[in-house]
Amino acid sequence: MASKSVAAEPSGTTTAASRSHTKKLAELTCEKIEMKIIEMNWPVGEVIGSEADLLAEYGVSRAALREAIRLLEHHNVAYMRRGPGGGLVVAEPDPDAMAHAAAVYLRYRKVTPKALFEARTALEVAAVRSACEHIDEDGIRKLRAALEHEAQFVGGESDATIHDFHTVVAELSGNPALHLFVNVLTQLSAAGFLGATAMFDKKAARSVQASHQVEEVHRTHEAIADAIIAGDAGLAQHRTVRHLNALASALEE
Ligand SMILES: [Zn+2]
Repeated sequence: MASKSVAAEPSGTTTAASRSHTKKLAELTCEKIEMKIIEMNWPVGEVIGSEADLLAEYGVSRAALREAIRLLEHHNVAYMRRGPGGGLVVAEPDPDAMAHAAAVYLRYRKVTPKALFEARTALEVAAVRSACEHIDEDGIRKLRAALEHEAQFVGGESDATIHDFHTVVAELSGNPALHLFVNVLTQLSAAGFLGATAMFDKKAARSVQASHQVEEVHRTHEAIADAIIAGDAGLAQHRTVRHLNALASALEE
């Protein structure tokens, strides 16, 4: 935690210590502004203050405020707009940026396909059960649209877009946490994301994209959708687990 006092630096303090103090104040200010945006119910596009307003409100140095703004911009929380009517503007968080950051981290940790699918199974079993409970006319339309979209890839080779179905099911769970993390892991599992060769070997990437598998995947997705539309959570979960196990073993062959 940052220190509570904002006392002037005593003479003789090293520049490094002063920089570290500014950094802590910047992190604290960034947190405070994030909390304020949450309390304001996240008004995307609203200007929450000019640099002068924020300097007065948070009582930190210009260097600390600018570092705080850099952090807010990096986290996709807010950004500085210059010029008349400018100031710190509330941003709309970007789930793709989050997915990308998570992918970079998991790649760095050398996550294995087995570990990835273990996590996906846990999340997707929960998501599909919840989707069965929440399914309505609008949800049925979304499922059918996803299946129609992937049907055009049947008969050919495909990239990862055929697995968008999983993200749609997670969205239908009505749980934004499940939706986000299923989206992250689905993108990461897809051959081609960050380069297939980086995650898995080329042979595995080919086996995912083979045309007979595209058709099999499409049929499996249809069967999962049928179970969701019927509100049969047990069957939908069973089919989801079997599908994910098949995908995981294809990557490990
Ligand atoms: Zn799938």
